[in-house]
Amino acid sequence: MEEEFKIFVDRLKHGEVEEIDESYDPSFLSIQEKELVFPEPINVQGEAYIAEEDLVLRLDIDTKAILPCRICNNPVNVDIVLEGHYHIVPLSEIKSGVYSVKDHIRETLLLETPQFAECDDMCPEREKLKHFFSNSKNEDINHPTYQPFQNLKLGEINQIDEKPLEEK
Ligand SMILES: [Zn+2]
Repeated sequence: MEEEFKIFVDRLKHGEVEEIDESYDPSFLSIQEKELVFPEPINVQGEAYIAEEDLVLRLDIDTKAILPCRICNNPVNVDIVLEGHYHIVPLSEIKSGVYSVKDHIRETLLLETPQFAECDDMCPEREKLKHFFSNSKNEDINHPTYQPFQNLKLGEINQIDEKPLEEK
């Protein structure tokens, strides 16, 4: 499993371009949130190369997430699609000569996942709730203060994979 995340920097030292075309099992995300599920593989395509003193990754990432509708709480499928996403890592930070894209893909996906979803773009329950909101344009619905994933800290994510890559 770990192998498919590795980029061997030494193989790119002479202008080579590594094609990336992977479909990662979503279990590597280790999502603990009950209300956030990634039910499908994480598809990642793109390329890796070295530009001067940096490793450059250009990635297209796509998958789906399921999160609760902010109005009725039913599960909603959300497409997560990133195209032409760049990630640049100074070679001086890749001391082992092997870079794992795993943490970066995880962080990027979590940042890209919306905090709110709504069924069919307009939840049928919305009408019923309307009278709870004083503003006729439903401003309160569109700018809720409740943030379901606010406790998901990116700092903790990084700790998950700090074991040396060679261990697995
Ligand atoms: Zn709904």
